[in-house]
Amino acid sequence: MAVNSYIGRFAPSPTGPLHKGSLLAALASFLDARANSGQWLLRIEDLDPPREVPGAADLILRQLDEHGLHWDGPVLYQSSRLPAYQDALQQLGRAGLLYACDCNRARLRTLNGCYDGACRARKANSAATSPDKPHAIRIQLPERCSIALDDLIQGVMVFDLGKTGDFILWRRDQLPAYQLACSLDDGYQGISHVVRGSDLLDSSPRQMHLLHCLDIETPQYAHIPVLSNPQGEKLSKQNHAPKLNSRQVLSNLLDCLGLLGFNTPSELCGASIPQVLDWATKHWQLSNIPPLSRVTESDKKQQLS
Ligand code: GLU
Repeated sequence: MAVNSYIGRFAPSPTGPLHKGSLLAALASFLDARANSGQWLLRIEDLDPPREVPGAADLILRQLDEHGLHWDGPVLYQSSRLPAYQDALQQLGRAGLLYACDCNRARLRTLNGCYDGACRARKANSAATSPDKPHAIRIQLPERCSIALDDLIQGVMVFDLGKTGDFILWRRDQLPAYQLACSLDDGYQGISHVVRGSDLLDSSPRQMHLLHCLDIETPQYAHIPVLSNPQGEKLSKQNHAPKLNSRQVLSNLLDCLGLLGFNTPSELCGASIPQVLDWATKHWQLSNIPPLSRVTESDKKQQLS
């Protein structure tokens, strides 16, 4: 690809401070952008007030800065983009692709993650939707919806979206759903490469489908393994992943490089943060990243002595 047409991004949700697992995703997307002489944008996905922690967005910005991960341009806050999400929803509605769904949680639980299209008979905003009954808005998938994803790390995968069914674009609590906001903003920001954790692998075909429906070009995707604890669970706030220690910035970065398949030379132990990031940018190769869905600290490559 032509130099400088590369635009990457990191898109954390401000549900807590960054931990080692989120640093891994930030670092991988940063290095891939810098190694391709590209831009690296920062987007704060603050569309879920019930899950947000006051002050977390500012803390994330500070943590990235401490680790030398300096982003290009202004930070995009999704909370400032509500009118754009509403416009896109209307566009999809006009194309006859949406319907209101008032299935309650108890019913959805019985479906085991595969929505059966029970509310398809309704169309969004139609008389069949009672305005006082809380409802979500779903996109109606075509009869057959198989999406091929050529992932830069995990290889080619084919997803049958019919297996999980029509998905939600607008939540019953009147907030835009992650799939809609994320796809639209990847398009809006001109993102060419999405490098993120493999926990979002299932989202990528949905986002690709949505982008096709909105006639927006799809980015290339690269899903890195997520960092798990020894019990095999993804590090997250729910399982009490510790906040990054800001007095150990260098070792945080070196640990993440080891998890991304680097054998780092021992001189880097005494190097400055910009020197470490420069070294990693020069040696960055997606093919070094293990094409796994998970890694644990014990999978880390060792430092060369
Ligand atoms: N905001 C999402 C998260 O923090 C990531 C979104 C993305 O990278 O697409 O899990």
